[in-house]
Amino acid sequence: MTTQQTEQTPAGRAKTVLVTGASSGIGEAVAARLAAEGHRVVAGARRTDRLKALAERTADAAARSGGTLEPVRLDVTDRADVADFVSGARARHGGVDVFVANAGVMPLSRLDSLLVEEWDRMIDVNVRGLLHGIAAALPVFDAQRSGHFVTVASVGAHEVVPTSAVYSATKYAAWAITEGLRQESDPSVRVTTVSPGVVTSELAGTITDPGAAEAMRTYRAHAIAPDAIAAAVSYALSQPPEVDVNEIVVRPAHQR
Ligand code: NDP
Repeated sequence: MTTQQTEQTPAGRAKTVLVTGASSGIGEAVAARLAAEGHRVVAGARRTDRLKALAERTADAAARSGGTLEPVRLDVTDRADVADFVSGARARHGGVDVFVANAGVMPLSRLDSLLVEEWDRMIDVNVRGLLHGIAAALPVFDAQRSGHFVTVASVGAHEVVPTSAVYSATKYAAWAITEGLRQESDPSVRVTTVSPGVVTSELAGTITDPGAAEAMRTYRAHAIAPDAIAAAVSYALSQPPEVDVNEIVVRPAHQR
């Protein structure tokens, strides 16, 4: 048990929740919702101006339920950065209850486009970034004998379409790594994979390949709000300790 786990919030016990990639889209919605529900949220990303603006926007709602949202500069591709993200939060809050590995990039392209640097980027952020989170959070969870690791994967963790080969590979990997973590973890550590369908965010903005960008305009025509994913994360967190919500897929009703 961490030192500050006794307060009750509308969503149950207040938790110290770390969210990566909280400067836009799904991570921003997760951080905002959980802070408004009374949790102590540590919001990480590279764009600290966006994190500070988020902290200002959510301050009133968070204060009403006793929650907080703290911006922290974070690059998940840097293992030391992620270690500091976790150890800093642990030192400030007496523990870490939840790590939400959400940061991701999706520069889709066909393999014959040979955008090798973009492949590397996806592997660095979507796979190595996730592993850096596990490496930093797992020893803390094991020492506390409590914790919850949440991975934001994708429907791309379950299917491949033209232009998604490398992105889907990183999300299949995220799914596999998280499932392995679940199987290996002590029952005091819970593990959840949330796989979104098309959600309004800045994600498609990382696509440089013109063909993939055009295809995405049709594919992403029906998107749901990022708070739909935040609600799924909140649901998993709010379950009693003996209940581990392992996987949630949330798609637009229009998405096949
Ligand atoms: P956004 O582009 O809106 O958000 C991506 C977030 O990741 C940003 O906050 C960005 O912050 C952060 N990020 C990127 N690189 C790094 C890095 N090196 N270090 C730290 N943070 C980083 O997209 P989404 O909100 O849509 O994406 C969030 C997650 O959801 C991703 O894992 C994505 O794959 C997944 N997903 C999204 C879907 C969608 O339709 N939107 C569907 C399925 C899955 P910054 O640039 O400031 O560092």
